[in-house]
Amino acid sequence: MACRSPDWFAVSGQEGARGGKRRPAGASGDSQAGLVQPGWAGAYRLREAATLRPLYAVPMEFRPFSVTLSKRFRGLTERTGVLIRGTGPDGEDAWGEYSPFADYNAEQRNRWWMAAMEAATGRLPVAVRHFVETAAIIPDISPDAAAAFVREFGCRTAKVKVGGPRGADPDSRATLRADVERVEAVASALGPGGRLRVDANGSWTLAEAGAAIKAIEAAARAGGLAGIEYVEQPCASIGDLAALRRRIGVPIAADESLRLTGDVDAVLRAEAADILVLKPSPLGGAHACLAIAERTGLPIVISSAMESSVGLASALATALALPDAGLAHGLGTGTLLATDTVADTLVPVDGRLTPKALSVTA
Ligand SMILES: [Mg+2]
Repeated sequence: MACRSPDWFAVSGQEGARGGKRRPAGASGDSQAGLVQPGWAGAYRLREAATLRPLYAVPMEFRPFSVTLSKRFRGLTERTGVLIRGTGPDGEDAWGEYSPFADYNAEQRNRWWMAAMEAATGRLPVAVRHFVETAAIIPDISPDAAAAFVREFGCRTAKVKVGGPRGADPDSRATLRADVERVEAVASALGPGGRLRVDANGSWTLAEAGAAIKAIEAAARAGGLAGIEYVEQPCASIGDLAALRRRIGVPIAADESLRLTGDVDAVLRAEAADILVLKPSPLGGAHACLAIAERTGLPIVISSAMESSVGLASALATALALPDAGLAHGLGTGTLLATDTVADTLVPVDGRLTPKALSVTA
C-alpha cells in the first residue's frame, strides 16, 4: 500500500525566512533547483489542518513485523516492531513504525511511540530539499568487505563503527588494530575528497579515547584522506566527552548522550559536543528534532535507528526539512536490511537518499 508520493514533499510557499540564524561552517546552500529555502520557521510548518485533527478520530491498523539484517548491527541480526497505518490530513494512508530496542525503558519507548504517531497521522514536516547526502554505515566487518560496501552505494561519506563490542572482544588493543585496518580500507575506498567519521558508541574510557583517535586519524591519512570528519560518542559520559573535547582537535558528536536521556541541555551546559546526532524515533519524532536543531544552532546529523524503511522514511523526512549543514546524514542503514517492510528499500543512490512512495508489504 503506497504511502505518499514524492510530490508530497514539495515546498509550496515561502514563509518564516529570517536572517541572523547561525549556519554551520561548510554549509553549501541550496543547490537543489526548484525548492524554496524557507528558513527555520518554515521547516516547522505543519501541513494545513494536521494539528486540528484529533487522534481519536483517526482509524488505525497495527501490523507486527520482523525484518532480517544482512550484517550484525548493535549485536542484532533482526529488528522487530509494529507498523501503524493511519490517515493523513488529506485522507491518504500514513505509516509510522514503532520498533524500540529491547533495552529501552518506558520513557524511551514513549518517545518512540510519539514519533510513530506523528508519522501515522501525516504530521511529518515539509521538506526544503529533494534529497539528502547520506553516509554509508560500516559495521564491524573485514576491511575488504568494508571497502566493497563503500563502493557499492557510491557514498562520499562513511561512518565506521569502532571500539567494540568489548563483550565479544575484551582485548582493546586487538579491537583498535581491527578498527585501524578497517578505517584505512574505507578511507582508500572513499578516495580523495571523501569524508570519514567514526562512531565508538561510548565504548572508550577517557584515557583510551585520545590514543585511539590519534591512531584512527593516522589510518585515515594513510588511506589518503586529510583526517576524520568527527568522532561520534567516543566516551559514555557527558563529562568525559567535554574533557576529551578540550584535549583534541577533532570535532565530537553526541548521540547516546542525547538519545538515551533526551536531555539536550546537559550536553549544551557541559559544552560536550560540536555536532548533534539526532535520531527522530527515539527522540520523539521529526518535530522534536527540528526544535532541538533550532534551539541549539549546532550542526545536525539526522540518523536512523536501524528501523525498516517505514521508520527510515520518517527520519529522511526530518533531514529533508533541515537546511544543508554540509554534513551527510546517517540514513544509509537500508543497506543493512536483508528483508524489509516495503517492496523497495530506501537505500542511497550515488550517496543520495531521495524520498519515494513506499509500498508496504509487512
Ligand atoms: Mg551513534
